[in-house]
Amino acid sequence: MQLYLCIISFIVGICLGSFYNVCIFRYIKGESIVSPSSHCPKCGHVLSWWENIPLISYILLKGHCRKCKEKISLKYFVVELISGIWSLLLMIKYGLSIPYFIYLGFGGIFIILSFIDLDIYILPDELTLTGSIVALMAAPLIGVDFLYSISGAIFGAGMFFLIQKTYKILKNKEGLGTGDIKLMFLLGALLGIEAMPFIIFVGSVVGLIGGILFLKIKGQDTQNPIPFGPFLCFSTMLYILIGKEVMSLYYQ
Ligand SMILES: [Zn+2]
Repeated sequence: MQLYLCIISFIVGICLGSFYNVCIFRYIKGESIVSPSSHCPKCGHVLSWWENIPLISYILLKGHCRKCKEKISLKYFVVELISGIWSLLLMIKYGLSIPYFIYLGFGGIFIILSFIDLDIYILPDELTLTGSIVALMAAPLIGVDFLYSISGAIFGAGMFFLIQKTYKILKNKEGLGTGDIKLMFLLGALLGIEAMPFIIFVGSVVGLIGGILFLKIKGQDTQNPIPFGPFLCFSTMLYILIGKEVMSLYYQ
């Protein structure tokens, strides 16, 4: 039964990932999410059902459009895989429960935000602000009291607001986007103030290493902007999976 649930959760995850891909790539291109149907961005070839199967189609097509042979971005595959693994790990940790569904949904928001931010350095308000309202309502369902939830949101957003202002005064340029502040509000609202030290600390460490890698891959120097959203989302997802265990070990 457990194995069966794990397999189902993985399949659900990769199918959701396929939908996240639509959201990510159409947001970046400024297209509508509902129409038109999935197509090759170069030749417009409309994908048939078997070219639309998460993970499998990418492997079958060897990463190229069937008609014009244009390379399909590996990001499609990566998003589906991350989403599948996320759903699977949540199922292993939380089983078929309310927290599973809540974290699955927010994981989707984190994945979409991360891949948009990596590409165009934007964390869309549609996701951060709407997500914050949903997070405040969902927090009690995952065992976070309203008081912890609201204080987490204010603490997280407040910290980042102060960092942003300080950086601007010291260096006289933008160091932290306003989108990051809104994202911190969401994360605090969802997981409460007790999660903030872990998320900020791990996010900063991973962000420092990941940021250097990011600039290396893009062939840019350290004067160029680094998206911070993906690293905050990563540390949040890590917290959801093992954060409480790590924190209790640390305090011992
Ligand atoms: Zn094509």
